[in-house]
Amino acid sequence: MRVLLIQTLSVEGITQERVYPIGIVTLAGGLKRAGYEVSIFDMNMEADPYGAVRARLTDFRPDIVGLSLRNIDPLGNKTSSLIPPFLVTAKMVASLLPEARIIAGGTGFSLFPERLMAEVPEIHYGIVGEAEDTLPLLISSLDRPRSLPGLCLRSNGRIQLTPPLQKLDMACYLPPDRALLDPSLYAEINSYVPAIGIETKRGCPFHCAYCVYPKLQGSHIRCRSPRAVVDEIEQLHKEYGIERFHFTDPIVNFPENHLNDICDEILKRHLRIKWDGFMREDHFSHENAILYERAGCECFSFSPDGLCQESLDLLDKRLSEQDILKAAAIASETDIISVYHFMVNVPGETEKTCDKGLHTIEKLYDIHGRKRNLGTIVLNNIRILPGTPIERLARETGVIGPETDLLYPTYHNPKPFDSFRYRLEALHLRRNILMWHGGK
Ligand code: SF4
Repeated sequence: MRVLLIQTLSVEGITQERVYPIGIVTLAGGLKRAGYEVSIFDMNMEADPYGAVRARLTDFRPDIVGLSLRNIDPLGNKTSSLIPPFLVTAKMVASLLPEARIIAGGTGFSLFPERLMAEVPEIHYGIVGEAEDTLPLLISSLDRPRSLPGLCLRSNGRIQLTPPLQKLDMACYLPPDRALLDPSLYAEINSYVPAIGIETKRGCPFHCAYCVYPKLQGSHIRCRSPRAVVDEIEQLHKEYGIERFHFTDPIVNFPENHLNDICDEILKRHLRIKWDGFMREDHFSHENAILYERAGCECFSFSPDGLCQESLDLLDKRLSEQDILKAAAIASETDIISVYHFMVNVPGETEKTCDKGLHTIEKLYDIHGRKRNLGTIVLNNIRILPGTPIERLARETGVIGPETDLLYPTYHNPKPFDSFRYRLEALHLRRNILMWHGGK
């Protein structure tokens, strides 16, 4: 039986930053080990994604097509959606190969499973959350599928979903089978973000008010062994020449010891690689920063999100303004670039919180100015996602109505502070240019 796993469009064009699709490559490895003939296709790597996927479908003629929907929209305050390309791809598969079974999954699909199954009748089955266990079991029982964790199916004209478990033991995680998709093709495609991702763990115990990670991965942290993580890095480095890696974890430096052990292992093996990942400020010490730098960290990505204490509390970040500034001071002493992500016009924004937000931006540039190591500050409005406290708040305050369709880009950005982001961006841009080019 032939299985084709397709990464549907996750970006709007090949000029944008893209990533190696570790999710489908991991799943494909499991299917290959189970004896299926497996192929992978990443539409994001093609100048003509629909022509190319059409050619692959007609050449390979799979019995089963897996469609992975990673992102529902490009984020970054954009109003465009990645749902239309997903729908069109599903319809193309169904019209070219009417006998093939279509199984949808991925992070984006997992946020709206019933909705997307209803919107795209061509999809036979969906898988919500982790699919490593469920996909092979589903494929082996396609005609009479059992009730499996995370399985979404049609029954008597209705869509039924069995809740996912998020229970994969990461100590038993088998890394993506790179022979199925050559990582070196992705080595040079981006200008900023490393395209090769490494999962060191899954799960996040925090409950930030806008975030769906705990829903998708569970709130219990499941770690891989540091040696297994570095084995994977070493293989990619030595066999495929990969030098830059992105740790895909929700938070890479929590628990601290896990990342410290990974760094020690990288140093022990004398691997000359670069890496980055999202860091939590309250677990970022001077000693850790030195270790990360020695082990090849090239960017500290911080996502405090709240620009002042009121916003941090509202977003349930469990961080203080002091945590942010202290981490910035530590990071600024290194030769590593720092990047900060903030949410703008969060619920409860006032003139006073706006002033505090502007002050935070100034402070960060003051701290990083001496060594000129502030890469950028990313300023976004909150993308409202289903099932989050922000969705509930937005409905209660009338920012969105009962009919608002969250499948398509919907941001929390009500008046009168709907243009505050532009004031912040002007300040950030001015300070950034001053930092890099000098002048007044
Ligand atoms: S924003 Fe980060 S820390 Fe907060 S819940 Fe999401 S993944 Fe966890």
